[in-house]
Amino acid sequence: MALKRLWIASPNYSSRGGAGVRLIVIHTAEGALTIESLGSFFSSRSSQASSHVGADDTVNTVGEYVKRADKAWTCADYNGVSVNIEMCAFASWSTDEWMRHPNMLANCAAWISEEAAYYSIPITKLSPTDAQNNGRGVCFHSDLGISGVGHNDPGLGFPVDYVLSLARGGSSPTPTPPKEEDIVAIATGVNNAGALHVFYEAKDGSLWYTWQKKGETAWQGGKPGKSVAELKPFAPAPK
Ligand SMILES: [Zn+2]
Repeated sequence: MALKRLWIASPNYSSRGGAGVRLIVIHTAEGALTIESLGSFFSSRSSQASSHVGADDTVNTVGEYVKRADKAWTCADYNGVSVNIEMCAFASWSTDEWMRHPNMLANCAAWISEEAAYYSIPITKLSPTDAQNNGRGVCFHSDLGISGVGHNDPGLGFPVDYVLSLARGGSSPTPTPPKEEDIVAIATGVNNAGALHVFYEAKDGSLWYTWQKKGETAWQGGKPGKSVAELKPFAPAPK
């Protein structure tokens, strides 16, 4: 299903001047909590800032402010070679906090997937060195250093492995789930959207999860993740 792009035009853009896009850059907005309020900020000429898109907790929707063919004003020297997403979030968020926003993370992943397909950019996280030179892939604003404005977003808590794994979607081969006798631990939780998640840790240390949408009984499959010790992000089940 294509990601819905809610168009809120920003006047703060310019021509790429022929530069090719090689970077997909992730930011945090550090203030705006919705794609509409972020759009309102970018629609003001006086902000002198913009981004191609923004993501909040709205299901399968991003705000779009600058078309990908144009240069958004967000990471200085790298504006010409990048497409950019602003998460309606803060660089100070812990991974736990990020994981309380599954829709926002899914929107980010879906957008990365669409941009990567359009520009034939690999869905891999670049090192700062590769991002600042000629690497093609996904990076943080913070990876761009001083000539990219020197910001620290989206922060060390951003669950980039999880998001990139979502972004790769069905294109990666499905690993074989562990057998029941190889499961050593199970944890469950309900997120803010009401989805029930169940996590399994296998003998080999791999983690698996499956989940149900709110009000549905179908299981949505499993994907490898992190260790059971990192499962706290999911809010306790509502009473
Ligand atoms: Zn930024």
